[in-house]
Amino acid sequence: MPGTFDVAVVGAGAAGLAAGLTLQAAGARFVVLEAAARTGGRAYTDTESFDQPFDLGCHWLHSAKTNPFVPIADQLGFPYRTTHVRLVRNLWHAGRFADPAELDAAQEEVDAAFDAVRDAGEAGHDVAARDVVAPDGPWGALSRHWLSLMTASPPERISTRDFAAYHDTEDNWPVLAGYGALVRKHGAAVPVTLQCPVHRIDWSGEGVSLDTPQGRVTARSVIVTVPTAVISEGRLVFSPRLPPELDEAFASLTLGVAEKVAIAFDRDVFGFTERTGVTVLGPDPVSFQILPGPRPLAVGHMAGDYASRRLADGPLALEEAVLDALKAAFGTAIAAHAGTRRATNWAGDPLIGGAYSCALPGCAHLRARLRDVVGGRIHFAGEAVRAHDFSTCHGAHLSGIEAARRALAGMAAAL
Ligand SMILES: Cc1cc2nc3c(=O)[nH]c(=O)nc-3n(C[C@H](O)[C@H](O)[C@H](O)COP(=O)(O)OP(=O)(O)OC[C@H]3O[C@@H](n4cnc5c(N)ncnc54)[C@H](O)[C@@H]3O)c2cc1C
Repeated sequence: MPGTFDVAVVGAGAAGLAAGLTLQAAGARFVVLEAAARTGGRAYTDTESFDQPFDLGCHWLHSAKTNPFVPIADQLGFPYRTTHVRLVRNLWHAGRFADPAELDAAQEEVDAAFDAVRDAGEAGHDVAARDVVAPDGPWGALSRHWLSLMTASPPERISTRDFAAYHDTEDNWPVLAGYGALVRKHGAAVPVTLQCPVHRIDWSGEGVSLDTPQGRVTARSVIVTVPTAVISEGRLVFSPRLPPELDEAFASLTLGVAEKVAIAFDRDVFGFTERTGVTVLGPDPVSFQILPGPRPLAVGHMAGDYASRRLADGPLALEEAVLDALKAAFGTAIAAHAGTRRATNWAGDPLIGGAYSCALPGCAHLRARLRDVVGGRIHFAGEAVRAHDFSTCHGAHLSGIEAARRALAGMAAAL
């Protein structure tokens, strides 16, 4: 693997794999270096632990009507579900499931909170989401929970302008065999050097030189697709340092916390015949996907400060919080039927460091800086660089294609 290439790609998540495919199609000499023992990054399907696939990271084809992974899924034979479901349904609150009138009121309050954040951002105000949502109504905890799930951040740390910049067609289609599996299959033809962390990128000379435990790689340019936290926390360093305005941008596009816990049950303890969503509004709000079957799977989602608090006590605490929420809504007896569990810890993974990027209040304009090409040879890609579909898998994919095209154009211009 040590050698000289046209382009080196760092990271083999959705962005790195898309960059690799684009460079491969153009006949460029390239290398993709991935620190982990697998490709996919935050696109990761566990097909072994349960009867049903479990996506630890991305699962829904967001903005599905314009999402490039929809035609890719069609081509590769990955089915997805297109039914539109509303956010607020099967809501457990104050010891019982909410009735239809309460569900409508709750949905209205959540919509109003989202609208207030979006309106402020569209009007050009870049402040904390917390500052523009109305003081908590009866469903304030639910609005906070959903804002946190959307951004991985608590409303105090969400930039209104960043929130408003996200374009949402409101079609969110789950990939039934796993979005992670889809991403990996799509990128399967890309040669990737695994377990090869890049520790340092030297750009003091003409091209770039990358230090890895497997040797030194040199290239004319580099496409860096690692998550923002990896750079802001100094786990990948640049020599010389990146310009301060870029350092500032990486530090302001924080990844936040969004984690999942999947729990399998040995019999149908829920009574649902179709995939559905359930939100339990307890001390730690949790939203579940219930995947029915003789051995149903409950996938709990926690985000923002609730998830951070639980994670601080270790992944087991996250599992307990999720099981407690299920017991509250479906009865303590279900615990006797709970079997295999798996909890994510994206925030604690040194190769990732969180869930998905969200600009801090006042910092939405810094996202554009990640699209600057540094020294004509360092290109950044990954979900965080996208203007309107950041934090998504398809945004990461598109960013990888764009960065590869820019790198190829740079090479052509130099000829
Ligand atoms: C819980 C959760 C749920 C989500 N749900 C959805 C969803 O439903 N729909 C959706 O569209 N998106 C969702 N996302 C977001 C989506 O998964 C990501 O935006 C997308 O996968 C990011 O791709 P990426 O290529 O930018 O980064 P990553 O996938 O993070 O890839 C970066 C790669 O760089 C590698 N790396 C790190 N450091 C180094 C180094 N020093 N050297 C070499 N390699 C390195 C990492 O190991 C990783 O493989 C979710 C994310 C999470 C965490």
